Amino acid sequence: MSETTSGNHVAAGRSAFSQDLLASTSVNERLQFQATILENVSESIIVTDLQGDIIYWNEGATALFGYSAQEMLGTTPAILYLETEAHQLSPDLERIREGQDYSSEWKGQRKDGTTVWIDIKTTQLRTGEGTAIGFIGVAKDITERKQIEEQLRQSRDELKIIFQHIADGITVQNSSGKVVYVNDPGAKLAGFASAQDMLTYDVETLRAHFLERFEMRDEFGQPVCFTDLPATRALQGQSYAEALVNYRDRHSGRSWWSVVKASPIVDEQGQVQFVVNIFSDLTERMELEQRKDEFIGIASHELKTPITSLKGYTQLLKRQLEKQGLPGQVAMLNKMETQLTRLTHLISELLDVSEIQAGKLDYAKEPIDLDALVHDCTDTMQQISMTHTITVSGASHAHIVGDSDRLGQVFINLMSNAIKYSPQANHVDISLAVSQNTVTVSVRDYGIGIAKEHQQKIFDRFYRVSDVHNTTFPGLGMGLYISSEIVKRHGGRLWLESTENKGATFFLSFPII
Ligand code: ADP
Repeated sequence: MSETTSGNHVAAGRSAFSQDLLASTSVNERLQFQATILENVSESIIVTDLQGDIIYWNEGATALFGYSAQEMLGTTPAILYLETEAHQLSPDLERIREGQDYSSEWKGQRKDGTTVWIDIKTTQLRTGEGTAIGFIGVAKDITERKQIEEQLRQSRDELKIIFQHIADGITVQNSSGKVVYVNDPGAKLAGFASAQDMLTYDVETLRAHFLERFEMRDEFGQPVCFTDLPATRALQGQSYAEALVNYRDRHSGRSWWSVVKASPIVDEQGQVQFVVNIFSDLTERMELEQRKDEFIGIASHELKTPITSLKGYTQLLKRQLEKQGLPGQVAMLNKMETQLTRLTHLISELLDVSEIQAGKLDYAKEPIDLDALVHDCTDTMQQISMTHTITVSGASHAHIVGDSDRLGQVFINLMSNAIKYSPQANHVDISLAVSQNTVTVSVRDYGIGIAKEHQQKIFDRFYRVSDVHNTTFPGLGMGLYISSEIVKRHGGRLWLESTENKGATFFLSFPII
């Protein structure tokens, strides 16, 4: 009931009776009326006189504390306070005596000894002339809310401890980008003495500090700007963003690698409220990778020279033995030469891999007659293969720009894979097609195929499918990685379609000049 002065009901404090009711009832009846209401509301209502002795106790109070009105009338509410909370009683009363409406939360005690969290709103009880004659308190059981708050507080504390002690840097930004939480490792990575220190900065100052202090680059050495960072992308609504970033501190010269992951927290309308960023240090792994790449590069260089001279001496010896008419020894040297050719091939693939990693693989830029190149490679492979017939269908009549040796390497790799991974089949189909500005070459085999879960990964460096079928196939998992890099550098695309045990088709497409 709200306070009003309009004609059909009359204000009485903060509640009101309608004019009709006033006209048809006596004061006694209305008091009766009010008492019934007070008895039936679910809130606990306790009234005391100015000394604090209870003069009214409703059913709701009995339900909440377990004491009957008879037990409580004439006593003080002190019995309701848990011993540890008793200190709360006098300041509570003091404030109310001063005439303030007052609200407090404390741990109470029921008649049966159980505890209950109470929220009580207290106000002065005054006569019509305004003289204070006591206090009215309306109490509510808030135990459930308090328990939830306590659980929340505990899990917040647990999380805080976890966040402070994990090695990863963590920051939380609000929707305008201000850092509202950072753990100590996060603050240290950002060049601050402590989390508290970092939290004092606003967005603009923090950004300026960052740009002035750190140089950021991606894994290919390209500069990373603020808008590319996962945090910025997540703030713009991207559901998850990740990047590998190399930071160099301009002050100390120190540099480190971090995988930065950012996820937004959105409200019910899908609006970004916060973004959580996690920075995991990857420096050791990246340095190890770099050392591994350097080792592969040096090792393959060192191996190349002796293998080349071994191959030269084998050929010389073969010619001499042929002249001397010794076919048995010549056959042995032929086998030796085949193995040396395999070794040379492996070493040059290793060299290619390390040059790709270092961004040093050179490419010529010349017009290439694609049909002629595909036929050349097919002829070469056909000469080597005793088991499969390779057929070419269609023609593109197209020229593309690039390095014919490198592209030839790709076709040979795809054809030799097609033969290698289809030991039960006897043919491989190549087709050439052209549409608008694109030429597409496909290499189809009828072999073991590639399961869905491996189809993307086989283009990764050193990735090999290792399941029951593949254990017998030799290889180091470099061919497709090198091929996809070469195709990328020609502005083309390399992809596949395959069903396990039904063969695979690799497609290559290039823009036509
Ligand atoms: P390698 O053949 O030397 O292992 P590749 O990089 O050429 O390396 O191929 C990577 C992996 O992809 C192979 O180990 C093989 O498991 C799979 N693969 C490639 N081509 C085919 C194919 N035509 N059919 C089935 N699996 C293939």
